Amino acid sequence: MTVAPGDPARPLRDRPEPTFRGTPPFPEAARVALADDQLRANLGRATTTIRTKRAAAVAERADWEELRLAGAAIKDAVLHDLPALLEQLEQSVTAAGGTVHWARDAAEANAIVAAITHATGARDVVKVKSMATQEIELNEALRLEGIDVWETDLAEMIVQLGHDLPSHILVPAIHRNRSEIRDIFIDEMGRVGRPAPAGLTDAPPELAEAARLHLREKFLRARVAVSGANFAVAETGTVVVVESEGNGRMCLTLPETLITVMGIEKLVPTWRDLEVFLQLLPRSATAERMNPYTSMWTGVTPGDGPQAFHLILLDNGRTDTLSDPTGRQALRCIRCSACLNVCPVYERTGGQAYGSVYPGPIGAILTPQLRGIAKHPVDKQTASLPFASSLCGACFDVCPVRIDIPEVLVHLRGQVVRQSEADHRVPSREQVAFGVAAWTLRTPRRLGLAERSAGLVGRVLARRGMLGRIPGPGPVGGWFRARDMRAPARESFRAWWRTKGGRGSDDR
Ligand code: SF4
Repeated sequence: MTVAPGDPARPLRDRPEPTFRGTPPFPEAARVALADDQLRANLGRATTTIRTKRAAAVAERADWEELRLAGAAIKDAVLHDLPALLEQLEQSVTAAGGTVHWARDAAEANAIVAAITHATGARDVVKVKSMATQEIELNEALRLEGIDVWETDLAEMIVQLGHDLPSHILVPAIHRNRSEIRDIFIDEMGRVGRPAPAGLTDAPPELAEAARLHLREKFLRARVAVSGANFAVAETGTVVVVESEGNGRMCLTLPETLITVMGIEKLVPTWRDLEVFLQLLPRSATAERMNPYTSMWTGVTPGDGPQAFHLILLDNGRTDTLSDPTGRQALRCIRCSACLNVCPVYERTGGQAYGSVYPGPIGAILTPQLRGIAKHPVDKQTASLPFASSLCGACFDVCPVRIDIPEVLVHLRGQVVRQSEADHRVPSREQVAFGVAAWTLRTPRRLGLAERSAGLVGRVLARRGMLGRIPGPGPVGGWFRARDMRAPARESFRAWWRTKGGRGSDDR
């Protein structure tokens, strides 16, 4: 179907929005992703470019480590005083003419957005790119209410037009290359508004112009906009959205009604605190010294911009996350994506394998906490996420707010294991293996005995030329399929150490 320019056709309501529900556990989903050569090529190219540029942008700042420490300290202070700061924000926004709503979970937040939109009489909304609204699956909820949602961020629009799912926090269509994007524009734009120009090629300026013309009609018709928030300043009630394209600025200024859905951890106490994050975020995210579009608004201003402003403060698992002294550092996250771009696991699997709008290292620690990892029985997909890492630590090195992601991953793995033990009366093979290992490592005498036995068996196998075939099929086979089994040393380090007169004993 081709729709003439200006025809307000709304076929979006007739088709479900894709969601991550039903994604298999990470190892399964990753296996499928790894078989996709095109995906790996697209991701490898894109992440290499972004992380190289980021490293150069960060190296320009001699005080980068001080900035990171300041960012972490401000966020920790916010988390410490969160209830009082949220109340201060509510008072500030209300005093400036806005309306504040509190949402415990996704259902409440979606219902509030739908009610506000219905009250305006609008049948569609334009949307600024926002992780919080993706987290609550707002698009699908509004579709069921008969309201169309038009994504206006270029990458989000590509994902929406392609009936696809995002695979990166900042660059949701990172898994697509230019020719795939051209095909999506040609096939899909005409179904939901202004068609792609005839003869469209995959040259970036042409693709950008096609998107600009298509979106312009949405902006000019929209009466309601929905956004997220990068930050909100408690002392003044100012809300901040940073973006690179200007589409956000159009959404935030043209419609009559603006609805912002904000996670409760996005607060900063004062304007002065913003200074730190407006330096940390652009360099970490897009390798820019300064963000191209930084929109800030405080309530409503008569005669200028939206005349109705609603701020929805979203919990959706954040209070539970806050109650975990180790896991709560995930709430410092400013969604810069730097950890994704350096992660060797993410680079190979892409974001969709994580089954969450938050992919990569931050997704592996945030999603399980927001969803609740200690539920009965353990949800296999959620429980698989803390294991989607090699614990190499590259994510911590680049994180602008110093989230120790490996520490939280190990912490959450412990929770998964304990929960799984509670769920299963019969121990799994892995639990048995680790039980034996724990028993063996408990005393030096047992360890010494195990070393001598393993050495003996290994030498026999090596003599018979069987090491290369070890161990064949079976539970250990998967481990050795991609690893060589090496011949054990003739004597253990501890035995050698004793011959040198070193202290230590197998006698306990
Ligand atoms: S965890 Fe750190 S590096 Fe990763 S997205 Fe959040 S702020 Fe950025």
